[in-house]
Amino acid sequence: MTTPPLSVPPAAPSAPPSARRTRPLLDVRRIYVEPEAAALPRGQEVLARWPDAERVEVASHWNIPELHGDEANVDRWVRIKTEALVLGVKKSLAARPNGRSSDFIAPSTANGCAMACSYCYVPRRKGYSNPITVFANIERITGYLRRHVARQGVKAEPNQCDPHAWVYDIGENSDCSVDATVSDNVRDLVELFRALPTAKASFATKHVNRDLLDWDPQGRTRVRFSLMPERVSRLVDVRTDKVADRIAAIDDFVEAGYEVHLNLSPVIVHDGWLEDWAELLDQVADGVGPRARAQLAAEVIMLTHNQALHEVNLGWHPKAEQVLWRPDLQEPKRSQTGGWNVRYRTGDKGRYVRALTDLVAERLPECRIRYAF
Ligand code: SF4
Repeated sequence: MTTPPLSVPPAAPSAPPSARRTRPLLDVRRIYVEPEAAALPRGQEVLARWPDAERVEVASHWNIPELHGDEANVDRWVRIKTEALVLGVKKSLAARPNGRSSDFIAPSTANGCAMACSYCYVPRRKGYSNPITVFANIERITGYLRRHVARQGVKAEPNQCDPHAWVYDIGENSDCSVDATVSDNVRDLVELFRALPTAKASFATKHVNRDLLDWDPQGRTRVRFSLMPERVSRLVDVRTDKVADRIAAIDDFVEAGYEVHLNLSPVIVHDGWLEDWAELLDQVADGVGPRARAQLAAEVIMLTHNQALHEVNLGWHPKAEQVLWRPDLQEPKRSQTGGWNVRYRTGDKGRYVRALTDLVAERLPECRIRYAF
């Protein structure tokens, strides 16, 4: 497998002005609000959290053109992500079958993100600044989930998601650790699943929110800390917490009653990538205690990228595209929406996956791989 050199100096990768954080993740000054959301108790709580924020009434959280931002103006996106919040109502509720990381994708209680990872697919759906939209009809969503879990009955066969519980991903379109700073929706979900012995909530995160440590999840919520080697993370994980901080949180989350897994993604291939991953896995092995290691499992997901996102990224963070957009290693695939996605070439991709899973077996043998693709 050929992996041309990573053209970024290891000691000082060039990142956009906003990489990591130069300002707080959230400093809400304006709330775009659907009237129906403002009338609900959760909506009122969110509005009361930022009493000085300007309120702008909107007919639909899906259609607020001024939030989409200029695609090439990252400073404007980051300002919007920091200062704007959308409060809406989730209209259609459905738990979609998944089968990879979770059995079902739960209906969202939020979408959008205050962070800005350059490979993230979330902004492809709702404009590029994509600030957090929080849904106020939480009681309808938790009621739906309770009934959905009851309909599944007891899980008869173990699968890659979990041996016993039906796993519901509650953070497909957002980062729940940040959402929890905006409203009590995530806490309500953790408390809901605590009382559902046949099911489990699950979310991936790149933010460490220690408020979650007081919620007593009783093993019914799985937090998947997303990890990648620090050298590349500093380049592509924009506004997230440092990888070392995520690793340092693992023991505390296990101690607090969470199941903690690793989301090893996206795996980005460049010269020296396996050496970087070996270093990362050693960091985990050294930084995590026996109790956490005994329950550890991971999913491994190789990078996929997208042509439209690549073109936008060239306008604000071209250095990251040097590792994300690699026509010499990738092949195009028509996406369901008609655009072009790219992924590592068939054959090579399988070899990359095997190389990394072998490395996990060698460096972090307690960590079971739930799935890798
Ligand atoms: S933290 Fe997750 S949702 Fe937020 S920008 Fe990064 S990848 Fe996207």
